[in-house]
Amino acid sequence: MASVQDNLLDWLKDAHAMERQAEDMLTAQAKRLEHYPDLKQRIEQHIEETRWQQGQVDAAIKRLGGSPSVLKDIGGKAMAFGQAMAGMTMPDEVIKGSMSGYVFENLEIATYTVLITAARAAGDEETAMACEAILKQEEAMAQWILEHLGPTTQQFLGRSQNPDLEAKR
Ligand code: MG
Ligand code: FE
Repeated sequence: MASVQDNLLDWLKDAHAMERQAEDMLTAQAKRLEHYPDLKQRIEQHIEETRWQQGQVDAAIKRLGGSPSVLKDIGGKAMAFGQAMAGMTMPDEVIKGSMSGYVFENLEIATYTVLITAARAAGDEETAMACEAILKQEEAMAQWILEHLGPTTQQFLGRSQNPDLEAKR
C-alpha cells in the first residue's frame, strides 16, 4: 500500500534523477558541438533551464519531507555517461543526438504530466504549479528540436559531401 503522497515523492525522486541525467547529457552534447551554433546555443539555454528545474524538484521533495535519492541520481548519471560515450563514436552524432534529445524531452513531458496529476491528487498545488512551469520548458525544447531536425539534417548532408568539412559535430 502506498499513499498518494508516497507515490508523488517517489516520482519526484525519479524526476530529480532524470534531470541530473539531462544536465549531463546536454552538457556533453553542447561541449562537442562546433559547426551547429544554433543547436549548441539552444542546448546551452536548456542546460540553464534544467538546473532551475532540478531546484524546483528538489524543493518539492523537501516540502514532502524527503531528500533526492542518491542511488537514483547515480543511475541517471551513469546512463548519461553511457549515452555520451556512445554518441561520440557515431559518424552522425549531431543527428543521433538531436533524435535522442527529442525522445528525452518527450520522456520529460510524460513525467511532468504524471507529476502534475499526482500533485493535485495530493493537494500539493505548489508542486503542481512548479511542474506546469517545467512542462512548458520541456514542450518548448521538444518543439524546437523537432522543428530543427530537418534543417540540421540538410546541413549535415551538405557538410558530409565536402571532404574539407567535418559534419558529425
Ligand atoms: Mg528537464
Ligand atoms: Fe528537458
